[in-house]
Amino acid sequence: MLRVAIIGSGPAGVYAADALTQHDDVAVDVMDRLPAPYGLVRYGVAPDHLKIKSIILALQKVLERPGVRFLGNIDVGADLTLDDLHRHYDAVVFAHGAAVDRHMGVPGEELPGSFSAREFVAWYSGHPDAALDRFTLAARSVAVIGVGNVAVDVARVLAKTADELRGTDLPDHVLDVLGRSHVEEIHMIGRRGPAQAKFTTKELRELGELTNADVLVDPEELLVDEASEAAIAAQPMVRRNVAALQEWSRREPAGRPRRLHLRFLLLPVEVLGTDHVEGLVVERGRLDGTGNAVLSGERLTIAAEMLLRSVGYRGVPVAGLPFDEASGVVPNAGGRVLRDNQPVPGEYVAGWIKRGPTGVIGTNKADAKETVGALLEDAPTLPPAEIRDPDAIPGLLTRRGVDVVIWDGWRAIDTAEQERGQAQGRDRVKIADRAELLRVASRR
Ligand code: NAP
Repeated sequence: MLRVAIIGSGPAGVYAADALTQHDDVAVDVMDRLPAPYGLVRYGVAPDHLKIKSIILALQKVLERPGVRFLGNIDVGADLTLDDLHRHYDAVVFAHGAAVDRHMGVPGEELPGSFSAREFVAWYSGHPDAALDRFTLAARSVAVIGVGNVAVDVARVLAKTADELRGTDLPDHVLDVLGRSHVEEIHMIGRRGPAQAKFTTKELRELGELTNADVLVDPEELLVDEASEAAIAAQPMVRRNVAALQEWSRREPAGRPRRLHLRFLLLPVEVLGTDHVEGLVVERGRLDGTGNAVLSGERLTIAAEMLLRSVGYRGVPVAGLPFDEASGVVPNAGGRVLRDNQPVPGEYVAGWIKRGPTGVIGTNKADAKETVGALLEDAPTLPPAEIRDPDAIPGLLTRRGVDVVIWDGWRAIDTAEQERGQAQGRDRVKIADRAELLRVASRR
């Protein structure tokens, strides 16, 4: 029996468990830092994207498979060291994602009122690390920096009314704040042109269907260069994105309560304010023919009392595991962790910590399959774990004072959230507080 630990129960980790347990002689422990499984599907996918959220049903089937065990509320690196993992498992797959923010590197970025989109997403998703009172939405104008799908998600959540989002699993405190939101203007700001935007067309088009917000696009900012034209010709998604933006640039605003401005070729220069964000200085860019922007010297100020930086994520190092600071991922070859360019026996990576924060959920399936292929190929030559008793790891963690959440504990949380939802005529209301999650899990 090959014993494997997978760190992270998001799509990458669960798809790795899925691929491993296609083989009868493999036992997998899927660990998570949080008491609840599913990673970014539970704590990142926007609440109103119900179809994407339903991927949870497929992930659940894997976690309930014989041979798979969920162990939540374990901080690998702190509660369990890499040595502990090697002593108890023949192989370890790190699939813990990209949990910190990239920075813009402009003055004022850290002023109160400037948040990362990750913080906002964590807050509205009821992530246990997000303080309940982190956001008040007292700002009238919000600048969202970046034009990827995360920027689209946060802009859409800001643009919708609380009533539009009531049918989702948003925690009660989030719905309350959204219901009292002062937001009227949302500026989504891309530093390059429309053909270089990272959002996908389906997600972009949803913005044009908002009932509570007009989408405003300045035709003068929809500039394309040679590289853009080549991308428009070669990539249907780019063509459709640019076409949607061009259509919106000809639309008359319908006088809806909120306005969502989609801006391009504006490079953030400085966040204004002394003790709170008051605005954003941007410099207009010009495309240089290669799809990159060069500064034009023309500066303008966008009034905003809140900033959401949606400029991408980075991975987090784990003590003892190699880490490439420049790219924010674990150096690897096809999923085999590399130390000094040599594969480390028994250490693997999958998902965003392997390839960086790119792709959609489904991308992780092929990615995890590649990693598992490498692991199974190496299996006959891996040094076997010293301790092979499956109860040893939960025992060790309990002795260290860790309140491990097992699958039945998660099911108790799942049931409690659904009951809480039913009491309000909703499918589910998320429990956000970590202590409460642990209390409910212990009632299993
Ligand atoms: P992303 O797609 O990489 O977009 C990041 C954006 O930030 C880009 O527009 C980038 O512009 C911009 N940016 C980076 N540094 C900047 C700076 N210093 N100043 C101004 N702008 C800057 O990242 P993401 O939106 O965080 O998404 C991460 C992944 O999750 C993506 O693969 C995304 O598709 C996926 N996702 C998917 C969904 C969905 O399918 N519904 C939802 C959410 C997330 P440049 O291109 O110029 O660098």
